[in-house]
Amino acid sequence: MDQIRIRNLKIFAYHGVYEQEKEQGQNFCVNAVLYTDTEKAGKSDDIADAVDYGAACLFIDNYMRENRFDLLEAVTRHVAEELLLAFPAIRKVELEVEKPDAPIPLRFDSVSVKTERGWHRVFIALGSNMGERLKFLERAVADLRADVCFRDIRVSDYIETAPSGGVEQDDFLNGVLEAETLYSPEGLLARLQEEERLAERKREIHWGPRTLDLDILFYDDLVLAKKELSIPHPDMKNRQFVLEPLSELAPFYVHPVYRKTVKEMLEELEETGRA
Ligand code: ADP
Ligand code: MG
Repeated sequence: MDQIRIRNLKIFAYHGVYEQEKEQGQNFCVNAVLYTDTEKAGKSDDIADAVDYGAACLFIDNYMRENRFDLLEAVTRHVAEELLLAFPAIRKVELEVEKPDAPIPLRFDSVSVKTERGWHRVFIALGSNMGERLKFLERAVADLRADVCFRDIRVSDYIETAPSGGVEQDDFLNGVLEAETLYSPEGLLARLQEEERLAERKREIHWGPRTLDLDILFYDDLVLAKKELSIPHPDMKNRQFVLEPLSELAPFYVHPVYRKTVKEMLEELEETGRA
């Protein structure tokens, strides 16, 4: 993707662990790479179609002077996230914040922390088979819509599904949500588990069926195989109740491991089901 580069933006601010840094302030230098599609602005030659880099510099300067953090890690993380929220046409940002005069009694040029943050396309499976199922799903969707770390949320129709696995329990209501998110894969899992806990509180039977289950299906084309987090979700190709609503939203999305579209996976499952 195209880049806009900002080098050595000088800012005077008050971030630091030591009292003297908080009181007297010091110089900071910011390097940023803003990833954005410049095609439209390149054609139209109109600033309205571009990421205004002057405005971006002023935004960084203002944010760093108005807020105070102990750690450079916190400064870079917050500035990167706020930039992405303030300038929707920036898809990804690499941000480095340097302290040329950090309080270290040695000779050095600067110390810095660099981070990368961006919008990621994700698909999340929604399921409930207990209590007011539709309310649990709708509440989760509303909460995610209210969270600034999600945007462009789309939700499939909900479908009724008979439970599988032989356990005696009520029918499920299933759907899929698509969004762009600023969360990391682990951050997203934690955010979804928080949402599950909110719904779980209303559970009367602690070991009973689930009021809310939120599973990550895809995260860009990331492949991750950890015990606590597998992406793409390992069971999706055998689950009609996942593939059907997913296919409504993104039939041509390609599974990064099987290299098959969602539509192809759904058709294969329907065929084996019939055989
Ligand atoms: P299930 O979704 O299989 O019915 P749970 O919702 O209780 O069961 O999830 C069990 C664990 O699955 C979670 O604690 C989580 O760490 C793990 N997990 C692994 N991959 C994923 C994923 N892609 N999405 C959500 N949870 C996942
Ligand atoms: Mg789950």
